[in-house]
Amino acid sequence: MTGAVRTVLGDIPPDELGICDAHDHLFLASPALPGQELDDAGAALAELDAFAALGGRAVVQWTPWGLGPRAGELPGLSRRSGVHVVSATGLHQARHYDPDELRRVHGGLAGLFVRELTAGPVRAGLIKVAGAYHRLDDHARHVMAAAAEAHHATDAPIGVHLEAGTAAMDVLDLLCRTHGVPPRRVILGHLHRFPDTRVHREAAEAGAFLAFDGPSRAHHAGDWRLLDCLEALAGAGHTHQILLGGDTVTAAARSGADGPGMPFLLGGLRPRIERELGPRVASAIFVENPARAFAAGWRRP
Ligand SMILES: [Zn+2]
Repeated sequence: MTGAVRTVLGDIPPDELGICDAHDHLFLASPALPGQELDDAGAALAELDAFAALGGRAVVQWTPWGLGPRAGELPGLSRRSGVHVVSATGLHQARHYDPDELRRVHGGLAGLFVRELTAGPVRAGLIKVAGAYHRLDDHARHVMAAAAEAHHATDAPIGVHLEAGTAAMDVLDLLCRTHGVPPRRVILGHLHRFPDTRVHREAAEAGAFLAFDGPSRAHHAGDWRLLDCLEALAGAGHTHQILLGGDTVTAAARSGADGPGMPFLLGGLRPRIERELGPRVASAIFVENPARAFAAGWRRP
């Protein structure tokens, strides 16, 4: 396997990544989720420890610029838990930001992303972007153009929040056809929130990675279709493009509070995937696929 995964403690060979939660959050603060901030470092460490106790070795935090990723605290959490942590740059939907703050960075997004990916002390290893519901609005198009530019400058992978799992093909059309990002460098997130297996297969045939996440009360109706979605993709020959994450976005969803949290991925989902889809599929989803998805050549612009 070529390239390196850029963790908060430095670049590592992809085969050192190990069992990976490919989409989650240790810190997150958005005005769109008032009172639900992930801002407690002690709770973040407890969640990492619980994940590590079940064999978890790596977590990719998809919290983008401006939403409180607290990148400076991630190396300490990684060291103390022994879990590799990858952090993100990029931007979420406009509704997650103060409009003035957004105006201030609007013209220089690609440069901002490149700086966060390449300049220390803590470097990001992923560019996060977001679509809208069944469409891409002007904000999404602008941010994705900047993400593509930052990808071409650095080779960083691009992770996409698909709103309620929709607009997957619109995103691939924009990022790949218009802006020339190779599909295998794009990770489409939240696909089981819109469990249309035909669209999933189309996105997989285009060459993208497909990330599923949860469970969460916010998308309960998709959670119980997860295994069917994975089985359909694996059956169509796309086992090596599937990723899985916990996507814990609220304090209440943590295992130390009221939710399944990060450990459920390994304690709850992995045994079912091993039993129903086989250990080789489980190993691809939790180990080999994340290593390929997050590895990059890391050019320096
Ligand atoms: Zn997320």
